[in-house]
Amino acid sequence: MDQKGLIFNIQKFSIHDGPGIRTTIFLKGCPLRCRWCANPESQSSLIQTMNDNTEAGEYKTVSQVLEICLQDMDFYLESGGGVTISGGEGMMQPDFVEALVKKLKEAGIHTAIETTGYVKEEIFQRLAPLFDLLLFDVKHYDRKKHFLGTGVYNDRIISNLSWAAEQGLTILPRIPVIPDFNDSPEDAKGLAALLKKIGLKEVQLLPFHQMGERKYELLDRDYAYTGVKALHLEDLADYQAVFKDLHCFF
Ligand code: SF4
Repeated sequence: MDQKGLIFNIQKFSIHDGPGIRTTIFLKGCPLRCRWCANPESQSSLIQTMNDNTEAGEYKTVSQVLEICLQDMDFYLESGGGVTISGGEGMMQPDFVEALVKKLKEAGIHTAIETTGYVKEEIFQRLAPLFDLLLFDVKHYDRKKHFLGTGVYNDRIISNLSWAAEQGLTILPRIPVIPDFNDSPEDAKGLAALLKKIGLKEVQLLPFHQMGERKYELLDRDYAYTGVKALHLEDLADYQAVFKDLHCFF
């Protein structure tokens, strides 16, 4: 059966979601409700009609997505790129993702998945090893603060991350650095200690940006971070310094 997935965007020539030039597939559905989310249309697992009469979400089959990905094969090969599944949380559509990643591997394409890690253990352990790279979001070391920012506790996330590290999977932990959530030196120390305890060697910092603001208007939703200034690399020199024992980059 040609599995169908609910997708809200396919971004070609993506250079921020893993190595080289990539095609990023954005799947709908996310178990988190991050207050700063830049893709609020990703959260619902349903097709949504926006205020400008566009629809967020379209069902596509594995064959259709594969065909789009194969169009850029030359770019992947030249740049060391591939395909990244993003979201939302891609593992919320496990059968579609499993079928798609298997087809991509058969075609010799490097595969990555950006995951929140907030996924049932059996699904995470079934899907994570299928990918060449896990882009694993780590948002807070403190479970209560994690809950206040995202609507979920971080226990399941940390246990899935620890399991992936124990299995020797290739992981790039990524920290979205968010004002008034995890941008203090104490936050950086706690996050660095967590990553080192798990045995990870590198981390990517993703400074907060305001690119999602307009989407809240299109969804008729309030945005908790209206007017909050974006962070820039120069704002994060001290924060980055805390991760000195890890390879830390932007
Ligand atoms: S995990 Fe990502 S997609 Fe989900 S709510 Fe948070 S920022 Fe948005």
